[in-house]
Amino acid sequence: MNKILITADRVITGPADQVIDDGAVLVDAGMITAVGTAAELDPSVDASASRLRCPGATVMPGLIDCHVHLAFDAGPDPISEVAQADPGELAAAMAGRAEQMLDAGVTTVRDLGDRDALAVRLRTSIESGTAAGPRILSATAPLTSRGGHCGFLGGEVTTDDDIRAQIARNAAAGADLIKVMASGGALTPSGPRMWESQFTPAQLRLIVEEAARHGLGVAAHAHGTDAIAHCVEAGVRTVEHCSWRTADSTVYDPEITRRMVENDIAVCRCVSGNWPLFLEKLGPERADAMVEVIRNMREAGVRFIAGTDAGVPGAGFGDYVGMLEFFASLGFKHTEILDMATTNSARAMGLTDTGALAPGLRADLIVVDGDPLTELDALRRIQHVFAAGRPTTN
Ligand SMILES: [Zn+2]
Repeated sequence: MNKILITADRVITGPADQVIDDGAVLVDAGMITAVGTAAELDPSVDASASRLRCPGATVMPGLIDCHVHLAFDAGPDPISEVAQADPGELAAAMAGRAEQMLDAGVTTVRDLGDRDALAVRLRTSIESGTAAGPRILSATAPLTSRGGHCGFLGGEVTTDDDIRAQIARNAAAGADLIKVMASGGALTPSGPRMWESQFTPAQLRLIVEEAARHGLGVAAHAHGTDAIAHCVEAGVRTVEHCSWRTADSTVYDPEITRRMVENDIAVCRCVSGNWPLFLEKLGPERADAMVEVIRNMREAGVRFIAGTDAGVPGAGFGDYVGMLEFFASLGFKHTEILDMATTNSARAMGLTDTGALAPGLRADLIVVDGDPLTELDALRRIQHVFAAGRPTTN
């Protein structure tokens, strides 16, 4: 890979309030080797390096989606789709979805549940350059109760020994983290209801301990208020959804939230780009309650990370920006939103080599037309994507 100097009207180095006007980024062999003003860098970089001049554009860290399911097709019935798919066809479909995300500027994804460790295989193909796509962190099969949420992916457990064995299997298959379905979910109507806990507090503690023994963190799917409390107590690294549901209402607990903030447990409040339709289906009362708990968590200082749940019904792989616009509609500042999409997500996933632009980090970056600090829609006008320094031009 050749040395390439990218110059643009502005470079957001990350966090998003760090901006260099008329900036430049030097990429060499997949890494960022210098960041500064174009006036500084241009004369110092030898003439043999290629120059990518992007007037009117912004260079910023590549986007991160902390919650996707590459194995799901975003259609009305992903469960039968995944269960019946031929492994070869499913792997090809997953590669296509990964490429679609890369084209949309997403350079890192965390896959939170697939079948037969297919995302790990795709991760390897992307790392070696035989497939184009974002860097993948894979949870492989999520741990769930017998007959529980997403049990069809192969991670059903009952006893403590089952838990240890499943975590060992996932680790051996190459998992980057462990996912646990701490509560039921809407996708599995035959399992526990979405507010019902699927594991005891002791089992959740065992899952976190056992994952740590394999060097892995835990992401916990938790809709129910009890499940959220137990996950925070157990020390999971991220809480997915975090919707504070009980059987008949929404019950937010400021004390649990305080502990979440204290222990730097991030919240991935997944929404798809289709959120206006989703809120309409929820009805005004529940939609207001959902929005209110997000505002409460924000006021309490919760670290939010970005996730689309791409692959579940209605959540496509190409509309990452739609998800960010949901947070803008709630009054989040653009700097907060861009941090959610980059630096905060990298940190919550334990990645220290991406999510910002600085010498020594992976060259995961995007060039967009316009300024996303004033207009999020600029993120839809992707001009170039570099994933580990490999360029894709739209
Ligand atoms: Zn999910």
